[in-house]
Amino acid sequence: TERKLKESEKLSLVGELASGVAHEIRNPLTSLKGFTKIIYQKTRDKTNKEYLTIMMDEIDRINFIVSEFMVLSKPHLVKFTSSDLSSVLHSVVTLLKTQAVLKNIEILTAIVGNDFLTTCEENQIKQVLVNVIKNSIEATPDGGKIYVKLESDNSTISLTIIDEGVGISMEDMKQIGNPFFTTKTEGTGLGIMVSKKIIHNHNGNFVIKSTQNKGTTVSITIPKTNKARQELTENNIS
Ligand code: ADP
Ligand code: MG
Repeated sequence: TERKLKESEKLSLVGELASGVAHEIRNPLTSLKGFTKIIYQKTRDKTNKEYLTIMMDEIDRINFIVSEFMVLSKPHLVKFTSSDLSSVLHSVVTLLKTQAVLKNIEILTAIVGNDFLTTCEENQIKQVLVNVIKNSIEATPDGGKIYVKLESDNSTISLTIIDEGVGISMEDMKQIGNPFFTTKTEGTGLGIMVSKKIIHNHNGNFVIKSTQNKGTTVSITIPKTNKARQELTENNIS
């Protein structure tokens, strides 16, 4: 429990920083991107065009990192609605399949049951699914398979993402989910941290298990919609 406390303290600190800073960074970034684009369009010089392309890519990268952080900002900005997780999952998998085909990876979905109604911030849940499935795509060698399973019982919806990719070493496992911990050259090390935070905000659980060179399993559970809570949420929406 001591370790748990530390982890949640760390997350709330990151959250506070994020809410203070994220919006402030976004506005100047937008104008930087805009003016860089204008110069790019006016420039004839090929080398300068290359530099400006790099600048625009880097601005996009900052923007991406900032938007990951904005999820951690004040929870009252978030709107919970009743959503069907199977259709949320479907839209994310459809989106990511276009990326998976580039590596000849197959994403196999199994849906067991038919009641997947939950009270959630749909965009945030989408972001979690994108983060987790993308990690699996990145970890899986060409031609591999990723299994996504959605199930529910009386009170809980479970989502399991299984890959047979590179896995995570015991050493790295200790650090997974720490802000900025990444083993990828182009990684941000924010995906797992943000996903965990989102799922915990939904009163759910996020567990990652992995064996090096065997693969990784991410298990997510979130509560089904509960009538009382749904009414409360609806009354709060202005
Ligand atoms: P990023 O993907 O930008 O590196 P994440 O927070 O999404 O950041 O993941 C952190 C690290 O956890 C990754 O760099 C990788 O080492 C490890 N990881 C996450 N998911 C998987 C997976 N499915 N298979 C192997 N390693 C993973
Ligand atoms: Mg990631």
